[in-house]
Amino acid sequence: MAKKFFTLSIFPQFFDCFTSTGIVSQAIKKGLVEIHNINLRDFATDKHKTVDDVVYGGGPGMLLKPEPIFGAYESVIEKGHKPYVLITEPWGRRFDQKFAYELSQKDEILIICGRYEGVDERVKTIVNQEVSIGDFVLSGGEPAAVVIMDAVIRLIPGVVGDADSLRVDSFANQLLGYPNYTRPAEYKGMKVPDVLRSGNHELIKKWRRWKQIERTLQKRPDLLEKANLSEEDKFMLEAIKKGKNFGEIFKVP
Ligand code: SAM
Repeated sequence: MAKKFFTLSIFPQFFDCFTSTGIVSQAIKKGLVEIHNINLRDFATDKHKTVDDVVYGGGPGMLLKPEPIFGAYESVIEKGHKPYVLITEPWGRRFDQKFAYELSQKDEILIICGRYEGVDERVKTIVNQEVSIGDFVLSGGEPAAVVIMDAVIRLIPGVVGDADSLRVDSFANQLLGYPNYTRPAEYKGMKVPDVLRSGNHELIKKWRRWKQIERTLQKRPDLLEKANLSEEDKFMLEAIKKGKNFGEIFKVP
């Protein structure tokens, strides 16, 4: 059964490029994913199709009105869907790979995209989780919705051609990804590490693991505390901390 996403936005055209590009477009064609981008303006209740209004109590900017959001949400529910409802908010739960995995377990996800100063607070009564993609302020929730959908869609079985690439992606085991190279073997005097051209797959596996641990130690040491490290991983970590090179520990032909 296809995983279904519903976005509620005043700019549904924002998603056109996302849905027609790369693995997302292929996932849609394969029937693994459906993305329904709903225009809030279609659910405005006045003849001018108004979706925003001034803020009670005064203050700058406009707010998305509740009626179009409730109307759009109810139109989805009335068709028998039971989506897990997210709303994009700068103060929401921080989106990360763990959150993406959790969402990948849901059959249907609806994302309400804020604009202007945000949405009328009463909308929160239909929301399961507020979600933020970081400590910065976007002008609308659509870019955040794209980030969330993309990360979740990658995790749906069959979407990424080689499932192994998910296993080695950054954060998959709290470790960052390893460095990769493609042809040519030498470019502007920079050589691809010998080990990768050795044909020794066992050694290549060890080198990649070493590099994952090294990169995580250098760039995100906080992740190592939560990582599920094997005895060999711990041995590599200690060696890296002592300033050893891979070649000093494992013989590279
Ligand atoms: N008035 C809001 C505040 O006090 O933070 C900012 C509103 S922002 C200009 C408009 C909309 O963009 C928000 O309602 C939200 O939907 C979305 N947005 C902004 N920053 C975001 C972030 N870091 N993560 C997710 N959504 C964000």
